[in-house]
Amino acid sequence: MPDRPEIPGIPEERAQSYRAAGWWRPETLHELVLRHGKGIPDKCALVSGDRRMTYGELAATVDRAVGRLSERGVRRGDKVTVQLPNSIEFVVLLLALMRIGALPMLLLPTLRSYEVERVLKLTGSRAMALTHRMRRFDHLAMVQELRPRHPHLDLLLVAGEELPSGSDIVDMSELCSTSSTSGCSVVPIDQPQPQDAAALLLSSGTSGPPKVIARTHESLGHVIRTNSAVARIDADTVYLAVMPAAHAFTLSCPGTLGALAAGGRVVLGSAEDPRRALRLIEQERVTHFAAVPGLLSQWLDVLDVDRFDTSSLAVVQVGGARLEPAAAERARSALGPVVQQVYGMTEGLCNATRLDDPADVVSSSQGRPVSAAEEVLIVDDGGAPVPPEHPGQLLTRGPATVAGYYRDAAATENAFTADGFYRTGDLVRQLPSGDLQVVGRIKNVINRGGEKICAEELEQLVRELDNVAEVAAVAGPHPMHGEIVCLYVVPAGDVSPELREVRLHLESRGVARYKMPERLELLDAMPLIGVGKLDRAALREAAAARS
Ligand code: AMP
Repeated sequence: MPDRPEIPGIPEERAQSYRAAGWWRPETLHELVLRHGKGIPDKCALVSGDRRMTYGELAATVDRAVGRLSERGVRRGDKVTVQLPNSIEFVVLLLALMRIGALPMLLLPTLRSYEVERVLKLTGSRAMALTHRMRRFDHLAMVQELRPRHPHLDLLLVAGEELPSGSDIVDMSELCSTSSTSGCSVVPIDQPQPQDAAALLLSSGTSGPPKVIARTHESLGHVIRTNSAVARIDADTVYLAVMPAAHAFTLSCPGTLGALAAGGRVVLGSAEDPRRALRLIEQERVTHFAAVPGLLSQWLDVLDVDRFDTSSLAVVQVGGARLEPAAAERARSALGPVVQQVYGMTEGLCNATRLDDPADVVSSSQGRPVSAAEEVLIVDDGGAPVPPEHPGQLLTRGPATVAGYYRDAAATENAFTADGFYRTGDLVRQLPSGDLQVVGRIKNVINRGGEKICAEELEQLVRELDNVAEVAAVAGPHPMHGEIVCLYVVPAGDVSPELREVRLHLESRGVARYKMPERLELLDAMPLIGVGKLDRAALREAAAARS
């Protein structure tokens, strides 16, 4: 396989020990889901708007999509960038690509041309799936504009209305239609193996721009299985996916894939309208959903004034960003003892509180690894283990955690220790109960309501402005999002940059909206520590003091 060396592999001895212990199993993710097409064909697998799809229909639809994609030349090892909202099309395409052995590169729908172009270039994607227009943004126009610079991108799979015709455009609704009889079922001869990559995901990492991560079937299978056990996912689960299904939290912790692998039902929704989501919980008798703290607090605000029947909820997973203890207690008193704090990262490690943990552990900690095989170390600046209950950087290694980044040896070298531990960039403390508490961060990432913004990427773009001599992006506190981007700028020349101008520049460069700075402060000089190193902590303190 030409792409194997692009994906740093776990040393063979460790990989074999995971297999021998049963942490990694000889299974592929698509088979874990599609086998239900035979076992429970009439059971509802997916709900999206007023469309429902049984497991039998899902298996048949994936079959046909495999055939049609194969006819269009999509082959094992091809990369296919997927930027779709939570929809039946997303699930069908994901499973069809996995079955072919083509690698879906999953992107959040909020990303724009700057981020999409980086990914197209890095992966050399030969196809891209997108929605024509979403939230008044024309994704198709965006991609068509990028295409001349990416001649390898020769197939567009497009969802939505008013699609232009063209031999390089495939209608996603036709590709994923249950009733359509066109197109044959082609079983690819060269079947993907459990040790092969199943999907590519985007992570904020710890420094520099976002990184691509390749997840293998056997490693992601382990993540799904262990998370499903801790979140008590089974065939009776009704999982509501409102956060983007492309994010590891909603995809595999245990997420959409976990619920489908268990033979449960997945309700695909969006986070835009809290009342609509709460109505879905009531109508579909939802048992599980995952939310970032800001989203949960919006829903609790609605529940304070309107009545919705949420009695079906068994587990509410909250994570992606810090949940304040008071917010956790509020959620528990509104929804019952169903709250589960989740702290994890796309690189693999996933921690969670347990449903039978005491209330104070659930409200004040982010739990412990869901996989008993995951190794965690808490170390000081020099890499030595800290004394019990002292804060330090969390390092992690195990069957859930990758060994490095896709096609990025420098970033791998930077973020992983020589013996394979991932340096999370998070500061944690281990409580006497064994649970971890996230107390801070040493990486240059701003966490705006669970959406991560890489400070260095933003700074590099702002530096393109002539009237900016130096710039630093740091997190400032925000009541709803937890954190927002505060820019500190040392101006060049007489006319200082204004926030509006910086935002317009970033917009013209095609940067996603959620990354836009929300405050800008001018400085005569950047605060420094030691021999000229930027003192980001001082800027963060200044940002907190001014809010
Ligand atoms: P990503 O993989 O890009 O989604 O980001 C993972 C990072 O999100 C972690 O390394 C943490 O910095 C942050 N994070 C995730 N969950 C939590 C949580 N429950 N509390 C605090 N930070 C979190």
